Amino acid sequence: MPATLVTFADGSVIGEGIVTRVESSSEGMIVVVDATPFHPVDHTWPDQPGDSGALVVGGAQVAVAEALMAAISDEGDFAVGADIPVKRGAEGWTWLVGHRVDGDVPSTLAAGTAVRLEVDAAHRAGLSRGHTACHLASLALDLAVADLWRKDPGADALGNPDFEARANQSSRIHEDGSVDEYRLGKSLRRAGFDTETFAATLAEREATINAQLSAWVASAATSRIVTEGPTIVDRRRWHCALPDGEAVILCGGTHVASLAEFHSISVALDLSDPQLLVMTTTATPAA
Ligand SMILES: [Zn+2]
Repeated sequence: MPATLVTFADGSVIGEGIVTRVESSSEGMIVVVDATPFHPVDHTWPDQPGDSGALVVGGAQVAVAEALMAAISDEGDFAVGADIPVKRGAEGWTWLVGHRVDGDVPSTLAAGTAVRLEVDAAHRAGLSRGHTACHLASLALDLAVADLWRKDPGADALGNPDFEARANQSSRIHEDGSVDEYRLGKSLRRAGFDTETFAATLAEREATINAQLSAWVASAATSRIVTEGPTIVDRRRWHCALPDGEAVILCGGTHVASLAEFHSISVALDLSDPQLLVMTTTATPAA
């Protein structure tokens, strides 16, 4: 069985394919189709939730609760989501998108059946705005704390000191926003970051980030995904043509086509635990 072909990178929300497997798993019933527009949640870095929607066969709709990664080993072991014992793209496994169906899968939806796949387009659009806003907020954060490094931590996608890569420990995207957590511990101080000055100037830093985000939204820059191939495990990168230069970030998620799709993006910084910066990003769609 070949790897699942995916079309979400170009913004597709509708597709057609042939069911290749129907499996029960600890996550529920999983339907695998040879090609799909559904974006699956990643099992190793689950930042963006999988798409929801429906599989349509013979006029009947079967609800898809969430798309997720699935894989089959060369020995024939089928695994889904967190049960996959290897990293995405590992050798010796074929990589698939699974469509999780809550409840029973009708017998009409068996291997070999032609299906139409319909992603919940409003949910996808909200997640795409949330993911693009998340990347922009991270880049604006890197820029807003660039003066606080005593040593070079390496460069981010815009050439600024890469706070994101050094400190980010989790990223959770939802419709029209995200929550990112950054570890401000000893190792970051040892890497040369001035956490004391950062804590003392938190409100100014937040205002600087929000001013930058307003400028980027006003630029209406184009945003797109460039893929190295058609399968779910081919590398994909987000490109955003910002006035400061084109940002290119390795990313498996979905994104808006233009920053004109936003009315605004803003962040709130929280340091109630001095070791943990929580950045909450909120996007408002353009009317
Ligand atoms: Zn991303």
